[in-house]
Amino acid sequence: MLSEAVVNVKGIGDKFAEELAGMGVHSIEDLLLYFPNRYDVFEVRPLSELIHEDKVTIEGRVLNAPSLSFYGKKKSRLMFNVEVENVVVRAVMFNRAFAKKQLQIGDTVTLTGKWDAHRLQITVSNYKKGPAESQATIQPIYSVKGNVSNVKLKKAIQTAIQNYGEHVTELLPSDYLTSYKLPTRINAIKSMHFPSNRQALKHARRRFTYEEFLLFQLKVQLLRKLKREATQGNAQLFQAQKVKDFINDFPFRLTGAQERSLQQILADLKSPFRMNRLLQGDVGSGKTAVAAIALYASITANKQGALMVPTEILAEQHFQSLKELFGDRAKIVLLTGSVKGKKRKEILSAIQNNEVQIVVGTHALIQDDVFFHDLGFVIVDEQHRFGVEQRRTLREKGLQPDVLFMTATPIPRTLAITAFGDMDVSVIDQMPAGRKEIETYWTKANTFDRILQFIEKRIQAGEQAYVICPLIEESDKLDIQDAVELYHQLVEYYDSSIQVGLMHGRLHAEEKDQVMQQFARNEVQVLVSTTVVEVGVNVPNATIMVIYDAERFGLSQLHQLRGRVGRGDKQSYCILIADPKGEVGKERMKIMTETNNGFELAEQDLKLRGPGDFFGKKQSGMPEFKVADMVHDYRALETARNDAQFILSQNLLEEDPTYHELKVHMENEGIYTKKLD
Ligand code: ADP
Ligand code: MG
Repeated sequence: MLSEAVVNVKGIGDKFAEELAGMGVHSIEDLLLYFPNRYDVFEVRPLSELIHEDKVTIEGRVLNAPSLSFYGKKKSRLMFNVEVENVVVRAVMFNRAFAKKQLQIGDTVTLTGKWDAHRLQITVSNYKKGPAESQATIQPIYSVKGNVSNVKLKKAIQTAIQNYGEHVTELLPSDYLTSYKLPTRINAIKSMHFPSNRQALKHARRRFTYEEFLLFQLKVQLLRKLKREATQGNAQLFQAQKVKDFINDFPFRLTGAQERSLQQILADLKSPFRMNRLLQGDVGSGKTAVAAIALYASITANKQGALMVPTEILAEQHFQSLKELFGDRAKIVLLTGSVKGKKRKEILSAIQNNEVQIVVGTHALIQDDVFFHDLGFVIVDEQHRFGVEQRRTLREKGLQPDVLFMTATPIPRTLAITAFGDMDVSVIDQMPAGRKEIETYWTKANTFDRILQFIEKRIQAGEQAYVICPLIEESDKLDIQDAVELYHQLVEYYDSSIQVGLMHGRLHAEEKDQVMQQFARNEVQVLVSTTVVEVGVNVPNATIMVIYDAERFGLSQLHQLRGRVGRGDKQSYCILIADPKGEVGKERMKIMTETNNGFELAEQDLKLRGPGDFFGKKQSGMPEFKVADMVHDYRALETARNDAQFILSQNLLEEDPTYHELKVHMENEGIYTKKLD
């Protein structure tokens, strides 16, 4: 019934139906669920509570005969005074000359319009003779297109509710309605369109918020379940004792959070299902260490492992730290774009002949001519920097290998629930002991001399500094010019006492490498750089991070940059040079100075920017909810997630008839027939 075309609704003709189609409304159900995008509330409030320039409603008595004046071609202005709470308020109405005759001295009128608190004047957009309703009236406002007006749409919806309302089926089992105190689906639909009062609207919104979240959570969790069951992976029977020995040889003890994440990953390796897990942890929280142990476990099960990272510098660094950790426990090779010719051939053949157990590399890893003997475990670092295709290509170099993604971009809990609904998530939310909090300062540009002096002092104490150069344009070219200029300034300022290095994206891989090596060996003390140092670079002796034009970076990126320091046991500093114009910009700088916790920062960023902006438009893939708001309604989202977990773990969709409608909904969404990749 409800799936029939809207044209079947009385009063909707072909033309109207076509216009509705342009608004995404095709079926009768679409129409019933086409909710207003906002509501105007008309409610008389005391004059003293009215806010300047707000839309307000007042009730008063007409004091004088309206005076009418004409101007322009056909324009008119009607003015009169009304008495409200013993105060004289002036009312102005444009282009409603006809109202002059309707308004008599002594009449009670209800006026709605824009309030000018200074002049005690209301510019009327709506008026009604007589007193205001005792309760607030709520006017739904729809987002409409073309010739569809609010009035016309409302009428169509009303007819649809009258004639088809009885066919709206309840999706939620009735004990959910009782225990959460939610209205039935049809009552909630009615209240969304024609709320009798605020309370009714609030309940209706609560119902659809929950419904949307529950359906979404059921969908992603069901998909994940089906996927896991459909993708036979390898049960990697690693040698636990060897893994223990490996960990015992580390120069440090794992943190509780590392230990917990590691156990989750090892359990995935052992299970016959394929691992599809995200390891989240702030910069420096020790993800690489966990990844190394997992790689080692996989090797003891006679598999090969691959670690793919987005940049050459990062590949080099991971390669070095893995080699250190592994010693002669495994043969590890580096495969990047700059490995060419004979060297590359040798490496490729070693990988294919199983003479190599671990390959660290960039995109070079996923070239067509790279073949593994038996790739069992794939790790992708900074996974958001790779496309879906690239990740798939790497995966397909093995036979259903286990896959672990790593990211240092903390995803707010709110988004993690939704964005990674189809992945398992492990979180390292604890820093290794002994780390000092980075002190962060925010300053305007004119203190640059003082900053340089401060850097000099720290360098005399044996430490090092990064200076991230100003960001003028998106284009690399301009970045470089600035970096070069800043570099020369610093060289001049410090003359020969301090070595300054320069790093930017246009340098050749070998040059970059050389600069990084010099910085790592403290032959260079100040590194001027564009944001290429953003990810992963590890020079524990560097203690100062200066960031120019900090207001141009997102909070997450600033946090990433800041994470380049504070990696050793010395006190580190981050200095943000920024002159943000708006309040939001100032707020962001303040947040940076107040917290070192990436997750907290991400939550704040989300609040400031909203979920759509958080991931950037390109790869947002965030679900669109009609009523629900992921940030604001976070508690409901958590509840829905837990309920979905319970429903699926108890197999209620299949086995409990009260869940039948939910099951039908999932079927209609095509969950059970979806191609799983
Ligand atoms: P991430 O990859 O999360 O940025 P790393 O694994 O590179 O972090 O670790 C950052 C630094 O901390 C490295 O120098 C590493 O050796 C060290 N580290 C990792 N785990 C611990 C730990 N549990 N205790 C002390 N130091 C650790
Ligand atoms: Mg790392």
